[in-house]
Amino acid sequence: MKKFYLVLFSFFFITTAFVAQETTENKGTQKGHTDENKFRQMKDLLATPNDQHTASGAPGHQYSQQKVDYVMDIRLEESTNKIYGDEKITYHNNSKDVLEYLWVQLDQNMRADDSKTPLAQSNAASAFLTPENFKKEFMKEGKGFGFNIEKVTVDGKPLSYLINWTMMRINLPKPLNPGEKFVFNIKWNYKINNSVKDGGRSGFEDFPDGNNNYTIAQFFPRLCVYNNVEGWQNMQFWGRSEFALEFGDYEVKITVPSDHIMEATGDLLNEKDVLTKEQRNRFDQARKSFKDPVMIVTQAEAEVTEKGRTTTTKTWHYSANMVRDFAFATSRKYIWDAMAVNINGRTVMATSLYPKEGNPLWEKHSTRVVANTLEEYSKLTFDYPYSKAVSVHADRQGMEYPMICFNYGRPNPDGTYSDRVRDGMIGVITHEVGHNFFPMIVNSDERQWTWMDEGLNSFVEILAELDYDPNFNTGNLPKDIVRYMGGDQSNISPIMSQGDYVKQFGPNAYTKPAAGLYMLRQTIMGPELFDHAFRTYAQRWRFKHPTPEDFFRTMEDASAMDLDWFWRGWFYTTDVTDIGIKDVKPLYLTDKPSERVQKLKTQYKDYFDSLGDLVYITDIKEDANPNAMIKYVDGKEVPSYIYSVEFDKPGGLVMPIIVELTYKDGTKERQTFPAQIWMKDDNSVKRVFSSSQEIINITVDPDLETADVDTSNNSWPKRESDKFDQFKNKVQN
Ligand SMILES: [Zn+2]
Repeated sequence: MKKFYLVLFSFFFITTAFVAQETTENKGTQKGHTDENKFRQMKDLLATPNDQHTASGAPGHQYSQQKVDYVMDIRLEESTNKIYGDEKITYHNNSKDVLEYLWVQLDQNMRADDSKTPLAQSNAASAFLTPENFKKEFMKEGKGFGFNIEKVTVDGKPLSYLINWTMMRINLPKPLNPGEKFVFNIKWNYKINNSVKDGGRSGFEDFPDGNNNYTIAQFFPRLCVYNNVEGWQNMQFWGRSEFALEFGDYEVKITVPSDHIMEATGDLLNEKDVLTKEQRNRFDQARKSFKDPVMIVTQAEAEVTEKGRTTTTKTWHYSANMVRDFAFATSRKYIWDAMAVNINGRTVMATSLYPKEGNPLWEKHSTRVVANTLEEYSKLTFDYPYSKAVSVHADRQGMEYPMICFNYGRPNPDGTYSDRVRDGMIGVITHEVGHNFFPMIVNSDERQWTWMDEGLNSFVEILAELDYDPNFNTGNLPKDIVRYMGGDQSNISPIMSQGDYVKQFGPNAYTKPAAGLYMLRQTIMGPELFDHAFRTYAQRWRFKHPTPEDFFRTMEDASAMDLDWFWRGWFYTTDVTDIGIKDVKPLYLTDKPSERVQKLKTQYKDYFDSLGDLVYITDIKEDANPNAMIKYVDGKEVPSYIYSVEFDKPGGLVMPIIVELTYKDGTKERQTFPAQIWMKDDNSVKRVFSSSQEIINITVDPDLETADVDTSNNSWPKRESDKFDQFKNKVQN
């Protein structure tokens, strides 16, 4: 076999040499060009490594990050839907820089009456409107949302500040030196939005029974991130691109009507004050129940409670360390269940809060999905470090916070639900609980890079969902991104774009990066190399602030895979995959040299003499002679069917070529050529396939692994004889 291939090689070598000679004559007139090769390293795109973000993608020896601790007293007034807060902030300057001011995020101002968000949207008069929308649009009727900052103080004395829409600058009395801390207070209140009617990723839903379901987040002034990548990350909150937040320790007391049930970020410190003895006993049971959720508040109990209206209040006291945010949910409508999850020997609680309107769907799936998510994500990243994860039912919301998230998925009023509603709910819970890992712990800058949390999270979500239900339609596989990528280029942005100006946000920041990582794992790197590298990234950057470079570099650093071509194409451009079969030439083994070879033999006699015995490859079927090789192979089978296949690449992306060969007897064989096959020619490449039986079909990317946008050129069916004649003539030319 070996010798056979050597001869074949020589044959092509000589032919190539001749082709080369013919074309060199034109070389002199060609213009020079810069290196545009798709495999060139990304030195033109990536930030220069430094001693905080190293060239290996790991945190450097000088890595530092700020820490912000909050002590808060919160009061929710149900009669007015207002929330009041008294907040003590301790800012630790762990950087090497002297700070003259601090920046604080006032997210609620995005929905204030003077918000710039609606003004920055192009609009046209609609032919029909609801009276509510008419008032909003043409009568400029304000709703009174947005923060009221009552006072900002240091040691009880007023502190100078300036509010620029959703950002507040705290003017420090004196510069804050490295290693120093600054303690100050903010007293505030705001009117809570109805998240169903007014929109928003937090707020409340009002039910016909007069009760509200409060899912409260972005509810307190929060410090911006300061680092050596962005300086102060104080880009305004337009409503879409999410948050950049520092880690810190939280101590929060929340006062609500005493018949409410609550969950929040952190550990509940005063169980005895807020839960009944019965509820605490049930919770103790739940802490030992690893198979099924235990009801802490049953539906029957919740249905009694939701009919009452207490005038007294209760204060729930939570504490959380090393979290980047805090959120809570409260209502008298809640059913509550919980179960224990074993994370590598440590018990973590998976729990859910939902009104009866969420049943029977929620009692069946929510807590189990939370548990499955914690297990699956822990396998791919690191052991879930917090004590619990909570899923809260909220209409039309899917939003994540440390240890708690708000999720949609509501059955019809009669309790029936479609597969779509059930799968949507399983999907959103997996997704939002998964956000505990990205970005709550691997704390990337969401305001700047949506894909770093949404994309990475949506990728791990695929694997977690398939683990929960192997037939689950994740919607995030390479085949699912084809329609978007193959669509109108003017509506598509590269993944590496800031979220506020991206047009098709979902496919851009969720599906495409998730599908890309899935492709990287399944097709390009393989699970063994990918999983180790991905876990390395997660572990290097847990409880830290990674950048895109840290991800790209770590994936290569931990795997010895040069993936610059993939990052460059998939993340920095809107190029598409389209690889096709341009031409297939059946060739035959023979002992008869063609006229052309005969000519060469005469012309290069010395060279051919040095080669000794030769067998030949011909395109003339009649000359085929499989026996030409018999005497050289010691009775082994000779592959007498030979096919020269030309693959072309109308798409801009380079990708591995996955080839499926179907033989005459129906058996199939796969061969994969790495993306690097396109290194020297970005347009077309040739491969020769040999076989002891006829190949009746050749298909590229048979399992739709590479997001190929046009599969009409992916197959070579058995051609009719006239086509054979056509290419025979071509070969002769
Ligand atoms: Zn998300």
